[in-house]
Order: sequence, then C-alpha cells, then structure tokens
Amino acid sequence: MTRVLFINGGSEGHINPTIGVVQELISRGEEVVYFTIEAFRERMEKTGATVRTFDGQKFIKAFISGGRNYLPERVNGLLHTADIVIPSVLEQIKGERFDYIIHDSMFGCGRLLAQILKLPAINSCTSFAQTKESFDNMLEQLTSEIPAEIIKPIQDEFQSLTKKVKEKYDVEIHSPYEVFCNPAPLTIVYTTRDFQPFGEAFDPTFKFVGPSISSRLAQDNFDLTAIKGKSPIYISLGTVFNQSIDFYKLCFKAFGNTDHTIVMSIGNRTQISDKGEIPNNFIVNSYVPQLDVLQYTKLFITHGGMNSTNEGLYYGVPLIVIPQSADQPIIAGQVANIGAGIQLQMQGLTATQLREAADHVLNHPSFNEAASKIKESFQRSGGYHQAVDEIFDFKSQYHT
Ligand code: UDP
Repeated sequence: MTRVLFINGGSEGHINPTIGVVQELISRGEEVVYFTIEAFRERMEKTGATVRTFDGQKFIKAFISGGRNYLPERVNGLLHTADIVIPSVLEQIKGERFDYIIHDSMFGCGRLLAQILKLPAINSCTSFAQTKESFDNMLEQLTSEIPAEIIKPIQDEFQSLTKKVKEKYDVEIHSPYEVFCNPAPLTIVYTTRDFQPFGEAFDPTFKFVGPSISSRLAQDNFDLTAIKGKSPIYISLGTVFNQSIDFYKLCFKAFGNTDHTIVMSIGNRTQISDKGEIPNNFIVNSYVPQLDVLQYTKLFITHGGMNSTNEGLYYGVPLIVIPQSADQPIIAGQVANIGAGIQLQMQGLTATQLREAADHVLNHPSFNEAASKIKESFQRSGGYHQAVDEIFDFKSQYHT
C-alpha cells in the first residue's frame, strides 16, 4: 500500500481544501498519515486518515515570536516553528516508511521535512500561488519600505535561523521564498489559472485544480430551515482576522430591521454581550456551515480569505470584499477585476456605505452574471478529484 505523509498547520483555511483530497486519496487506496494540531483531529480522522498532532500552542507562539508587522518577520516566524514541528514529526514517524509527502504551502515546514526524509514532495497551496520572481519582487518592495534599523536585525535573524536549521537538520535554505512558499516539484493550487493573478507565468508543475469543495464532516447545530427561501446576505470575516466587534455592530446598523435576512458568523473570540442588541432579522453564530449557507445566499460580505472567496464564487454568489490582512487585498482586487463583486476598505467604513454597496451589488445584474460565469468555470475545474489525478500522475514517475 502507498503511504502518504501529509503535513499541515492548524487553521481552517489551510485544512479545509485538503479534506476532499485526503478522502479521495484514501478512496483510491492510499494510506494517509496527517499531521496537524489537536483541534482538527476529529475532522481529519473522519476522512479515514491516521491523524497525529504537534503542539498547537507552542506552534503559534513560535510563529508569532518572529514578529507580526512585516513579511520578513513572518518568514522568520515560520522558521521558528521548525523546532516545534520537525522533532515532533520525526519522533512520531520513527521507523515508518512513506512513499511521498504532501505539505502545506506555508505552515508545517514541509519543504524541510521533504528534504530531511528525502521524499518526493507535493505542495498544497491554499492561497494564490507565487513564483519565486513575484515573491522576491514583493519582498524587495516591502523590505525597501522598512527603516534600516528595523530590517537589519530581522535579516540577521533570518541568517542565524537558517544556519541553525542547517546545523540541526542538515538542510540548506536558500531564500525566504523557500520558507514562505515551500516550493516542490508539484504544486496543487485550489483555484483556476484564470482566477490566479498572472496565471500564465506559472510553469506546468503548478496544477490549478479549482476549489476543493467537499463536506466538512463536521457536526453543527445551524438550522438551515431558518434561511430556506429567504436568500440571506451572509457576513463573515473568516476564522483568523475576525475579532471585530465594531464591524459587527456596523452591520447591525447597516442592515438591522431591513427586509434582508442576515446570517453573520462572528468567530468564537468575539462576544456579543447583549443579545438584545441583535436585530430580529439577524442570525448570529460563532461558526456557521458556510458551504451550506452559501447555497442560499444572495450576497456574501467577506474578508476575502482565499477559501471564502473560492467558496462564494463556486456557488455563484456575488461578493463585497473587505480585506483585513495577508493576501486578502490581492484576492479582493481579483474579485473586482472579474466583476463578481466590489472591494471596500475597513478603515473609515460607515453603515451607510456598507448598505449602499450591498444595494449596488444586488441591484446591478452584472455582478450576478460575472459570479455565475466564474461559478461555471470553478465547478468544471475538477477540484479534489483533479488534485488526486495530478498526484497520481506525479507519483507514477516515482514508481510508487
Ligand atoms: N468557515 C466556516 N464557517 C464559519 C467561518 C468560516 O465554515 O463560520 C470556513 C470557510 O468555509 C473557509 C474557512 O473557514 O473554508 C476560512 O478560510 P478563509 O481562507 O476564507 O479565511 P481565514 O479563516 O483563513 O482567514
């Protein structure tokens, strides 16, 4: 039996697209050992994978210890996680044989592990992909904006961390790109080449398989009958950048007591203390079954996470994207480019602007039309089935 080592971090956005891939691998006869944090054990065990975990708290602490203000600091943060992930994985797979490794494009030090274990490697890319050239250009641009006295120690730290990795694990790191994007001989990207910015710049080792949409295998207590036939507006800032009580209150002001039904996911770190302040036309939950809700939704107000955007468009829902951080401004830009939605800035946003933006998108059929067009291309693209076809093509080169 072919044995697959799957290395991931611990966030919804990086885990969810892999669920379908792992289920499909297993249904085609592969045995999968999947590393993540404890919080995702149950979800991943339901795929049939053997789940092993590393310490999620220590992982986050290590990542954050690199600093959070600048991209080069996040690169260092990822290198700090090496000492949490690598010894733990090596210890837990001692004496076992694997045929190939699939690793996240960002979290889990997959490229390092692939080299340590000398395994054929596949990169699972849950955001837009980046070529070395585009990443280096971006890094250079961002670095040039950082004052010299700040960037110098960050760059020194990168040098000392890569040296330590070399000493401890005997692997070379040649560039920040290797740390941040974990390039591999095959990269699976969960969107289409058309939606990927500069899609034509990617060589054939990048396979754009489209959104990987599959059941989450999760238990939830959301009553879908409450929204059936009501075409709600769905609002979510995702699972990371979602502590935004002022924004949620602004949504109450924008849409409270209107004819719209609103479903709002606020995450489990935000408390709406006074339930009395929630307008009657709102359903507010810490977490909702997003894929189910989107199938009824007429407008999705999102932070523009890659998954939320892919999922909204997969179901042909026009978007208002309010980017919070990370890759979200780029994703928001792409949504606006294809005409499937508009972008708003969080800073200075008013309830009136938000309501008017919603009216604008809902009253102009062009947004729906563009969303329907991309829906067709997303649904045709193959998703996790295609991903596994590509993985099988790849592994056949290695006779596994
Ligand atoms: N999600 C969900 N229910 C919620 C909030 C989020 O199912 O109430 C899922 C969503 O479907 C997506 C993921 O969590 O798959 C969020 O990933 P995304 O890349 O959009 O944003 P992130 O959370 O990484 O910022």
